[in-house]
Amino acid sequence: MNSRRLRLPMKDYLHIAERDSWTCHWCGVGYLSNDPWEIDHVRPLADGGTNHATNLRLCHRSCNRDKGTWHDSTAREAATR
Ligand SMILES: [Zn+2]
Repeated sequence: MNSRRLRLPMKDYLHIAERDSWTCHWCGVGYLSNDPWEIDHVRPLADGGTNHATNLRLCHRSCNRDKGTWHDSTAREAATR
């Protein structure tokens, strides 16, 4: 899933992190030493989203991955029904 990974200039990353008060979009918790930050797309690029700050949000890697898994498994379930 490398296409999902977003490389952002540090200043943009900091801008988003500060705007989101350094808390995770999904769990609302701050920095966890064992859980690096990731930048998530509010609207996926595949769905017409952009890499602009207004379409990006801060989240933990594990929270972002859980969300992805949840989406994938839901899609898989729907496909098999
Ligand atoms: Zn989180």
